Amino acid sequence: MTLAEKTLTTRLDDLRGDAPATRHNARTIAALTANPGCARRALLDAAAVDKTVIARELGFPAKFGQSPFAITRGNTFEAMVKAHGCAELLRLLREELGLTIPEVGYHDLETVGDNASNSVRYQRTKQLLGQALTSGQGTLFDHPMLRLEIAGATAYLEPDVVALQIGGLFHVVEIKSFAVVDGQADPAQVASAARQSAVYVLAMRELLRELGQSPELVAHNSILVCAKDFTNRPTAALVDLRKQLAVIGRQLSRLTSIDTLLDLVPPDASFTPGEGLADTVAAIPSRYAPECMSSCELAFACRSEARTQGSVDTLGRGVCDDLGGIDNLDTVLALAEGTLDPGPEHADIAEMLRRARALRLEVAR
Ligand code: SF4
Repeated sequence: MTLAEKTLTTRLDDLRGDAPATRHNARTIAALTANPGCARRALLDAAAVDKTVIARELGFPAKFGQSPFAITRGNTFEAMVKAHGCAELLRLLREELGLTIPEVGYHDLETVGDNASNSVRYQRTKQLLGQALTSGQGTLFDHPMLRLEIAGATAYLEPDVVALQIGGLFHVVEIKSFAVVDGQADPAQVASAARQSAVYVLAMRELLRELGQSPELVAHNSILVCAKDFTNRPTAALVDLRKQLAVIGRQLSRLTSIDTLLDLVPPDASFTPGEGLADTVAAIPSRYAPECMSSCELAFACRSEARTQGSVDTLGRGVCDDLGGIDNLDTVLALAEGTLDPGPEHADIAEMLRRARALRLEVAR
C-alpha cells in the first residue's frame, strides 16, 4: 500500500505501533488547546499514544497527576452523588438550584448490554438523546459517549458526566470532589472544571448537529457539583461557559491538520517503545513553554531538549515576545555582552539587553 492510499486512521495506527494506547478525555483536549502550536503533542494525541509511557521510556517520567488518594476520594464522591439513579443529584438540582424536574428517566450509557466499545456507546448515546429531544422523555444520561474532531481525526471522549435534559435543553453536569468553602472554591480548580465542561458542551453540540438538531439545545451553562465546606455533602452551582466555549472552539478549529503533521514524521517511524523512539520523537517539532509543566506528560523531556538547544522558549512566551524573534540564548547573551553586533532589526532589543545587563551588574556589586 502506498502512503497516499493509506487512510488517516491506518497512518496513525502505524505511528502508534506497539506503544500503549490511551483515550482522550475532556482534560486532555482542554490541555491540547493550551499549546495548539505543538506538532509533537498533536501527533501523539491524535495517535492516542499514552504519553506517560513515552516520557518514562525517554528517561523523563511525568511528575504530575492526581495522587491515588485524590482519585479514590473523587471516585467515592461521584459514586455517592450518582447512587440510586442520581437521587442525590436530583435533590440538589431541585432544592439548591430550584430547577423544576417533575419526571425522571435515568439511562446509564457506560455499556450497551455487554458491549463497552466507543462506537456502540456513541451510537446508543446519539439514539437516546435524539429520542429525548423528539419525545421529551428521558432526563438523566449518565456516562454519555461523545466525540470530537481533533485536527482532522476523531477522538472519543471518556466521559464521567451526566447530561441533563430539562424542558428540551441539555445541560452538562460535572461532578468534582474539590471543596466549596463558604461559597468560595479554588479559582484554578473551577477554571479547569469549566474548560472540561466546555469540551463536553462542544462535543454534545456536535452530536446534535449530526442529529439535524440545533446545537443551541445544549446550554452554555454547566452544573458543577462539588463538596460542601469540608464535608462529603455535595453542593451545586451553575457555571457560565461562554468564554471557555469561544476560546476552546476557536483553538480547536485552528489546530493544524493531522494529515499535514504526519508528513513531518520519517517514513516507517513509530512510537513503539525501544530503540528508535527517541529519534522518532526528536524528529517531530515541539514548542516547549513553561506552561507545559502543568499540562503535558512530556514536559521534562521537552524542557531538557529546549535547554540543550539553548532555546529561549524555556523562558516563557512573555520573554520570547520581548526578544522579538531571537530564538537562541547564546545570541541573547552575546547581544547583552556586546560581543555580537545586532542587525538593524534587533538594534533596539540589543540596547535593551545591554541596559538590563548593566543594571544587573550594578545591583550585584
Ligand atoms: S511538553 Fe513537549 S510535547 Fe508536550 S505540549 Fe509541551 S512541547 Fe509539546
